[in-house]
Amino acid sequence: MTTGPSPRLEILNIHPYVAGESSIAGANRTIKLSSNEGAFGVPPVAQAAIQAAITESFRYPDGGCEALRAALGKRWGLDPQRIVCGAGSDDLLYQLCHSYGGPGRDIVMSAHGFTIYEIAGVYAGSKVIKVPERDLCTDLDAMLAAVTPSTRLVFIANPNNPTGSMVSAADLARFRSRLPEHVLLVIDAAYAEYVDRDDYDAGADLVDASGNTVMTRTFSKMFGLGGLRIGWCYAPVAVVDVLNRVRGTFNVSVLGQAAATAALDEPGWMEACKAHNTQYRAVLTDGLRAAGIKVWPSVGNFVLADFGTVEKANAADAFLRARGIIVRKVGAYGLSHCLRITIGTAEECGLLVEGLTAFTHHG
Ligand SMILES: *Cc1c(COP(=O)(O)O)cnc(C)c1O
Repeated sequence: MTTGPSPRLEILNIHPYVAGESSIAGANRTIKLSSNEGAFGVPPVAQAAIQAAITESFRYPDGGCEALRAALGKRWGLDPQRIVCGAGSDDLLYQLCHSYGGPGRDIVMSAHGFTIYEIAGVYAGSKVIKVPERDLCTDLDAMLAAVTPSTRLVFIANPNNPTGSMVSAADLARFRSRLPEHVLLVIDAAYAEYVDRDDYDAGADLVDASGNTVMTRTFSKMFGLGGLRIGWCYAPVAVVDVLNRVRGTFNVSVLGQAAATAALDEPGWMEACKAHNTQYRAVLTDGLRAAGIKVWPSVGNFVLADFGTVEKANAADAFLRARGIIVRKVGAYGLSHCLRITIGTAEECGLLVEGLTAFTHHG
């Protein structure tokens, strides 16, 4: 019998999130392709904004993120009143789980969906139901079949990390219309900026068309601000009201707000990042396939390389690490036979293809 403090039992069933590693002991240069961070770092105007905001950092931030929400509204044509900002979109995913989930309130996600939904859901006290996928794509019919009267939340990452697959706007709208009204659908569009498909929508239209859908977005990927922790969501008024009651009062820092607001105005940033990503995602995919490695189709800034067996994936990972290249093991996503690889700079993509080509020849 222990006498010290103890958490609720389910907390101890949570596996801590494993972040992408960032360095290899002994390597003089590390190429980090493990966390899907944008290939080009912090946008220059955001760097200047951070510098300028440093002396204001002794003050509390604007808890309402007024300027940032106005800039987001203008950039994406959305009502700023229906935007809530968070310390990364993870922050908002947690708040949604705690507000709409909880004991007796189930959460549905796909089998290889983003692991934060499971961590945050279990933390909130929900039962988290993982629905098998079809060819590493979200199976919407199976998701619907998994929804019970106890279900309160459904999470879909679109595009999904780590599989790279996406659900079309039409399929998602049909899915929403078949979901019970009391179920909140959360569309996590962390990679929306990279998608170059006509049949894709990040989710804002569906948020507008239904009173029970939320779209979450982030500055951590294309906008290169993962280290400052800024995310946002676009939601129905009632959900905005809930989030504003429960979120941390000063959840986005002074530097984060300044950087994010500025980043939206970096001239040509989105176009250049997207063009680079589309080009080098193809280079990477073709290069690995030419080396005989299976690569799943991806619409994000990463690809999922499939080595068929856990042993081979681990050997490939070790081979790359010996060359100073870090990619992501995805065993936590039930994909131990695969490695997730971020689309880096042209040079980084070249080195990765070279590395895995050498692996298939000699490894
Ligand atoms: C990277 C990522 C996020 C973003 O997380 P932040 O907390 O905003 O850094 C959210 N969802 C998915 C699926 C991601 O891959």
